[in-house]
Amino acid sequence: MVIYREQAMGDLRLKNLNKSFGAVDVLHDVNLQIDNGEFVVFVGPSGCGKSTLLRIIAGLEDVTSGSIAIGGRDVGALSPAERKIAMVFQSYALYPHMSVRKNLAFGLENLKFKRDEIDARITEAARMLAIEPYLDRRPKQLSGGQRQRVAIGRAIVRDPEIFLFDEPLSNLDAALRVQTRAEITKLHREMQTTMIYVTHDQVEAMTMADKIVVLRAGRIEQVGTPLELFDHPRNLFVAGFLGSPR
Ligand code: ADP
Ligand code: MG
Repeated sequence: MVIYREQAMGDLRLKNLNKSFGAVDVLHDVNLQIDNGEFVVFVGPSGCGKSTLLRIIAGLEDVTSGSIAIGGRDVGALSPAERKIAMVFQSYALYPHMSVRKNLAFGLENLKFKRDEIDARITEAARMLAIEPYLDRRPKQLSGGQRQRVAIGRAIVRDPEIFLFDEPLSNLDAALRVQTRAEITKLHREMQTTMIYVTHDQVEAMTMADKIVVLRAGRIEQVGTPLELFDHPRNLFVAGFLGSPR
């Protein structure tokens, strides 16, 4: 968040990443460079390994081989809490018995942040997301769109170096999806933090991304700007997936 960080460290380097679950190979030799501040969309059909890749970056899943560096530092040995990464899920994952304010505060309290700092971060996140009116409500008193904003707020207050979004809009209706998409883009503009956004929706990928990573069956097919992929798809899969006429 602009008010907290002097120097951003959201560079991400994935080198020769492989992941299998038992005998099933899920990711094959993934190499990827994401620069600080980029908005990168991972796109690909269901089951191609998008969520697994995000979970590996977040530290929620081990790799079988390969390395991950953030801000030039190898984070392989760091727990999820030690990586300065915040993840937003499709299912919101809010605590139902806590107020919105408490949902936002909870992670910071566990990390032993001072009360003043917690309050300042909640105030800032609530302003950015326009959720001030709901701070004392419970999640079940909110609409789906409002809940997803709270989930994003919970990521913001952690002041991460990298945001990960795993199909965050899938549970929202079409109109709300378009609106929330625009809000996330605006947030990125305001915060200038690295964001990785997973979707299987080509339109989302084309409209939101600085850079798109096309995945297929655990491999990176192509990386490029929306225009590059649209004008010069490497193969029929990319062309077909992103909908260019070829
Ligand atoms: P996506 O998010 O692109 O839909 P996933 O990363 O969820 O894909 O899954 C990729 C593949 O890995 C799928 O074949 C899925 O069944 C498998 N997979 C994911 N998580 C596990 C797990 N914990 N155990 C075994 N297989 C898994
Ligand atoms: Mg997934």
